[in-house]
Amino acid sequence: MFDYLIVGAGLSGAVMAERLASQEGKKVLLVDKRSHIGGNTFDHYNDDGLLVHKYGPHIFHTNSKSVFNYLSRFTKWRPYQHRVLASVDGLLVPIPINLNTINELYGLQLNSDEVEGFLAGKAIKKDRILTSEDVVLNTVGKDLYEKFFKGYTKKQWDLDPSELDASVTARIPTRTNRDDRYFADTFQAMPLNGYTRMFEKMLDHPNIKVMLNTDYKEIIDSIEFREMIYTGPIDYYFDNCFGKLPYRSIDFVFETHNEDSFQSTGTVNYPNDQLYTRITEFKYLTGQKSDKTTVVYEYPKAEGDPYYPVPRSENTALYKRYQQLAIKEKNVHFTGRLATYKYYNMDQVVAQSLALFKKLYSPDLIEEEA
Ligand code: FAD
Ligand code: UDP
Repeated sequence: MFDYLIVGAGLSGAVMAERLASQEGKKVLLVDKRSHIGGNTFDHYNDDGLLVHKYGPHIFHTNSKSVFNYLSRFTKWRPYQHRVLASVDGLLVPIPINLNTINELYGLQLNSDEVEGFLAGKAIKKDRILTSEDVVLNTVGKDLYEKFFKGYTKKQWDLDPSELDASVTARIPTRTNRDDRYFADTFQAMPLNGYTRMFEKMLDHPNIKVMLNTDYKEIIDSIEFREMIYTGPIDYYFDNCFGKLPYRSIDFVFETHNEDSFQSTGTVNYPNDQLYTRITEFKYLTGQKSDKTTVVYEYPKAEGDPYYPVPRSENTALYKRYQQLAIKEKNVHFTGRLATYKYYNMDQVVAQSLALFKKLYSPDLIEEEA
């Protein structure tokens, strides 16, 4: 008899397993249909000995000290600040758009104050910011919108930015200084020995049993458990009874080159001409030394593993119908990017699972904090 069946050995499931076993002494069965732990953050050494992320580049960043401290129990860190260039008009310029982007793109020599005026002159002000198009037009106007966002977004989501919630392109700020970091969070680092090692430490507890290569529906009737934590797609849990929720998938195409370096920064975005959205070179992220280097190209697609919930109102409405069923489900708790259909970063997923754990075992603490 297990106290908990946890579906999904990604971050959200692993945090729950670790907390329940080590803090509450619960017996946990952690099931994943894939052949490995780690969910979408899984990394491994490829045939050329380079550490790569199987499901695309994962850079850890957070403003939450408690999330960072929590994960720090299971890994040391390598400080890393991600920098991205965008291939636009035959140039490689910084994205998020900053002072240098504008100057390089338009052959100008503006300072910070002047670039504010420049952007104010271009911005198409909106009374209400509802869509991803509104966000960008309202800040930088049509030309930069078309150069950096329209094509990339169409490729990534197969939707025009006007068809996506504002939250999607709002992930990318616009800066009038020279800060060229992709993220501005307080804590930015990579697990020193990789994500998979971090997961191995989290799950190294006698009360945690891990079962891989298993869809939970194959075993649910043959094991006994008291409660379930579910981190898979919420529509799948309910047999798609209201219809499938849309997810976006990606083909990851890896290439190893017999050279020390392939490109001049961790990621280069290709908003316009190519079929892929970006190329990432892992050595920048991992700091690994080698005379070879591996890169990954990302080709978005509709079918395949569900990587991205698609943030737009009709999908949120459909998710809410599933959520109503989820709330009524006895002894089952939903957490994570797929089970709550939220475009969450890693730190948000960790925070969400830590909050669920608190709700289950120290609800008083949550009331006190509120
Ligand atoms: P997942 O990692 O998806 O784990 C869910 C697990 O459940 C999977 O392992 C799946 O196999 C399993 N599962 C599903 N259904 C079943 C079933 N029926 N039976 C058994 N098991 C099942 N975040 C960042 O903070 N920084 C980044 O740089 C970053 N880059 C990203 C790049 C890409 C391409 C993608 C797709 C995501 C990125 N993210 C990034 C987001 C990050 O991957 C997620 O926030 C996080 O991994 C979500 O964890 P999770 O446990 O909720 O879901
Ligand atoms: N985006 C864009 N151009 C870029 C970078 C991002 O249009 O050069 C938009 C696009 O819609 C993308 C979203 O902003 O899906 C979020 O980008 P982010 O890099 O955060 O995506 P993720 O790393 O989650 O795939």
